[in-house]
Amino acid sequence: MSQGAEGNRVTGERVLVVGGAPQTRHSLAESILQPAGYDVLAAADVAEGMILARELLPDVILACHSADHPAGIELLEALHAAPVDAPVILVAAEGSEALAVRALRLGAHDYLAAPYESGDLLDTLARTLRRYWMKRIRANVPAQLLHANHQLEQRLRELNTLVQIGKRITSRLDLQPVLTRVVEAAVELAQAEEGTLMLVDQATGELYSVAATGALGQVDASLRLPVADSLAGQVVKTSQPLVITGEDLRKIKTHYYFRDVAYVPLAFQETVIGVLGVSNREKSAAFNPHTLQLLSVLADFAAIAIENARLYDATAQERNTLNTILRDTEAAIVVVDTHDAILFANPIACQSFGIDPQTAQGRPLTETITHLQVLDLFAKDARGERSRSSEIALDDGDRVLSARLTAIDDVGRVLITQDITHLKQLDRAKTDFVTAVSHDLRSPLTAILGYVELLNRAGPLNEGQQKFVERIVFSVQSITALINDLLELGRIEAGFDRDYEPVAMNLVVRYAVEGMRHQWESKHHDLQVTAPDALPPVSGYPLRLRQMVNNLLENAIKYTPDGGQIRLALGTQSQFVLLTVSDTGIGIPPQDQPYVFDKFYRADEAIDRFAGTGLGLAIVKGIVDQHKGRIWMDSQPGQGTTFTVMLPTEGVEKREDKRPESRESC
Ligand code: ADP
Repeated sequence: MSQGAEGNRVTGERVLVVGGAPQTRHSLAESILQPAGYDVLAAADVAEGMILARELLPDVILACHSADHPAGIELLEALHAAPVDAPVILVAAEGSEALAVRALRLGAHDYLAAPYESGDLLDTLARTLRRYWMKRIRANVPAQLLHANHQLEQRLRELNTLVQIGKRITSRLDLQPVLTRVVEAAVELAQAEEGTLMLVDQATGELYSVAATGALGQVDASLRLPVADSLAGQVVKTSQPLVITGEDLRKIKTHYYFRDVAYVPLAFQETVIGVLGVSNREKSAAFNPHTLQLLSVLADFAAIAIENARLYDATAQERNTLNTILRDTEAAIVVVDTHDAILFANPIACQSFGIDPQTAQGRPLTETITHLQVLDLFAKDARGERSRSSEIALDDGDRVLSARLTAIDDVGRVLITQDITHLKQLDRAKTDFVTAVSHDLRSPLTAILGYVELLNRAGPLNEGQQKFVERIVFSVQSITALINDLLELGRIEAGFDRDYEPVAMNLVVRYAVEGMRHQWESKHHDLQVTAPDALPPVSGYPLRLRQMVNNLLENAIKYTPDGGQIRLALGTQSQFVLLTVSDTGIGIPPQDQPYVFDKFYRADEAIDRFAGTGLGLAIVKGIVDQHKGRIWMDSQPGQGTTFTVMLPTEGVEKREDKRPESRESC
């Protein structure tokens, strides 16, 4: 049999048309069958039809039947008595149920009654031929092949069930439905009556049921099996599957009556955490090794699901703990993503920075937070640091926070603050005290210096006395320098200098360089200043700005071995004047860098090799803060240091007059 490409079109199938009016046979052959590709044989009556059916072996017979030409039924009767190897379709001119029943009883393979379309006839023909051949093929296919086919179908079903369960396990975190489905699948695939999944209680070592079907599902859920004395317990102890059938079972003490049972261990990382079992109570059918394999795969799925759920619970618990810590901590915490949209802000951050907790999540930082210092800290700049610190004065004016902004890979940035109001108050009290004491010490010290100088005039001193006097002078000068620095700092921090004027920084720098010419020349430093022709003025207090440049230059000269290079450069960046002071000196070790702007802080090498009070940079920082500027430093030990100061130009300073002070440092 061969089938054409286009629908019902066939090639060379032979159709025998028997009976019917001559014009019916003719039109069937000419208009329908031959155009569709069939070879047509025609017989006017039953006798001729039987001969052709036997001799010419048609593929299908159309037995035409009408009240006038009843050959159709007669042919069926004849074929019933002497069958041929071809299917017969009764084509009736007038359809009736009784006729159809009769035809089918006589062995007709199909029945078609007028009126019908040519397509109906062709469909019926094709269908009949297909069925007939399938039946014949099936009749001739060996039993083993059918068995193999059945087995294949069974394997496909098993595979499908396993795939479905696998999908459920990866898509569901809700454990119970998955475990129940695993037990159902175990029962289904093992063709058993009931199934159960038991887990080992790690605390007591007993087995308890987490999912069961059939009669086992009715068993009290609180029931626990001892591992030491149960069939399932045996599987836990040995980590090996167990199959017991029929007779063997009766010899074993169990809590329930079974005919057959099969148990497989549920193992995770070499530890048995439970047992999956199926059993028969009514019928008896031994469980084979293939069933055990299937059960083992299901047990693995269950173990993965349990582990997934455990991990999920653990993660959820950790997240809860973390959330609680973040929520209840006294530090304000704000986390933004890589596009600066808020990911998280804890209640204290919401309260401190005026964030609306209801709407903040996912919104851009700039729309959520209005506090300028916080925005300043988040504002990206060219320096690309991973971490920045700043002090933030809260709007209520009483509190000061120390804030640190840190980049977190693949997340964004996190701002963590600490309330340092009490430290600030202590610092203030300490400064006031030190200022008061310094002030009181200055007069006696000046007196000591005066009298020491008079000693020479009172009479000649011997060599030893002269040396002691020099030491006294040196010590008193050092203490006086320290006291002067302290008093200066006190004044700067108190914000006494308020009469700002436009200051040309290139003049300030030039005066500082000239004023210290003796110092840098005596150390043979190569000092160069670069400045653009036109530099916008900054609004400030000229003496303080000069003091700032002096201190930076003094450090560069001091901490650079003889013959070094010192560069002072002025420039502008948007609305700021930028001053850099670089040297090729000893540099500052990374661990000291965060503290050099603190009062009295000195790096170890500086303490060992150079005189100093540790107040110079604190004064510089104080002056920069006072001018609403920023200062930072880059340093490589052994290679040199660059301090950069950024001061707002006059217009900016005025425009931002209401802006709270920014105290960023590195
Ligand atoms: P000091 O009186 O010690 O110079 P400063 O406050 O001016 O005090 O500086 C603090 C510390 O910072 C110094 O002791 C030194 O360790 C370090 N430092 C400052 N400037 C430089 C520099 N240009 N090169 C190397 N170290 C420096």
